[in-house]
Amino acid sequence: MNHPRPYRFRFVIVLGMLSAILLGGGCSRQLPSQYFRLLAFGTIMELEVIGVDRQKAQAAYQTLQQDFQFMHKAWHAWDPGPLGRINQAIADGRTIAAPPSVLPLLRISQELARKSDYLFDPGIGRLVELWGFHNSDLEPHAPPRDEDIEALVARHPSIRDMKLEGFHLSCDNPAGKLDFGAVGKGYGIDRAIERLREMGITDAIVNAGGDLRAIGSRAGNPWRIAIRDPDGGSIFALLSVSGDEAVFTSGNYERNFTWKGKFYHHIIDPRTGRPAVGTASVTVLHPDATTADAAATALFIAGPDDWYRVARQMGIKYVLLIDTEGMVYMNPAMQKRIELQKPVQDIHISEPL
Ligand code: ADP
Ligand code: MG
Repeated sequence: MNHPRPYRFRFVIVLGMLSAILLGGGCSRQLPSQYFRLLAFGTIMELEVIGVDRQKAQAAYQTLQQDFQFMHKAWHAWDPGPLGRINQAIADGRTIAAPPSVLPLLRISQELARKSDYLFDPGIGRLVELWGFHNSDLEPHAPPRDEDIEALVARHPSIRDMKLEGFHLSCDNPAGKLDFGAVGKGYGIDRAIERLREMGITDAIVNAGGDLRAIGSRAGNPWRIAIRDPDGGSIFALLSVSGDEAVFTSGNYERNFTWKGKFYHHIIDPRTGRPAVGTASVTVLHPDATTADAAATALFIAGPDDWYRVARQMGIKYVLLIDTEGMVYMNPAMQKRIELQKPVQDIHISEPL
């Protein structure tokens, strides 16, 4: 799935973390907050658990670390592994028994892609590759030639062409290539939350640089989440999350390069084969992280004119979109929850979602 990116910390953080309170104390003492860093999907994730003893927290940390390593290997589009084998079979026009480690993610991605009108489309791996966004070291480079982009778009690479019959996957379009970069992290975070619950942990947050899911509360208080201003490093807004909710942001600042004064980012519009135009960032709140991740990518591409329609279609209830001019779009429910941290000149509030 995700390319092994250089370790990065997105600016968006959980505020006021009681960092690693792992000092002293016997094994059975209930600690208010324990904080761990996990290596996952080529980035650093943070796990914070509340109100469990040290042994249990350590066990949770180790389990999640192993799970994430497994997922990273299973869903990597460009390294040899289960997804690499699927992609090779698609390129060769062969039917393949889809490895079980990829099947559930594949099924759910097909469904989410369909609901997004294929704006979120993990079948466009070749476009991602053409632009060089699969490279772990993303250096400034010349963008692809127009004729190469157009030739690939004309072949309509899409997850839509990937047919699953039981375990068997076939694709009659060899231009398709799976890249779960826009959804794997969300799916992984959902599995992590399931794991924590299995282990009896009820209050926790799993946070990949601002893409996160939180359950329960932070010792009775909501989790406080900061949303980054796409225009710089500062905090654009704060949000309170409690119960069980995921917050995901897709931003043009995440992965990009500049060539001859032009800016190119990593969220590709499958219709044009080029970086989506008009949006700087989209934040989505949703009960599950998989949907939130896919939707943030889809609404980014849908842009200021079409995000509302696509959000409805995907069943999303909270959206914040900031366009490349700094204009802010949200639905009324999001407006109620968000605490803006800076003056915004132009806010468009949509009809309720
Ligand atoms: P991030 O990974 O930074 O959180 P996204 O969730 O939006 O951001 O995922 C972007 C990644 O998804 C890209 O780096 C690329 O691998 C892949 N991708 C780009 N465009 C699309 C698209 N239209 N549909 C599905 N995946 C995409
Ligand atoms: Mg995404």
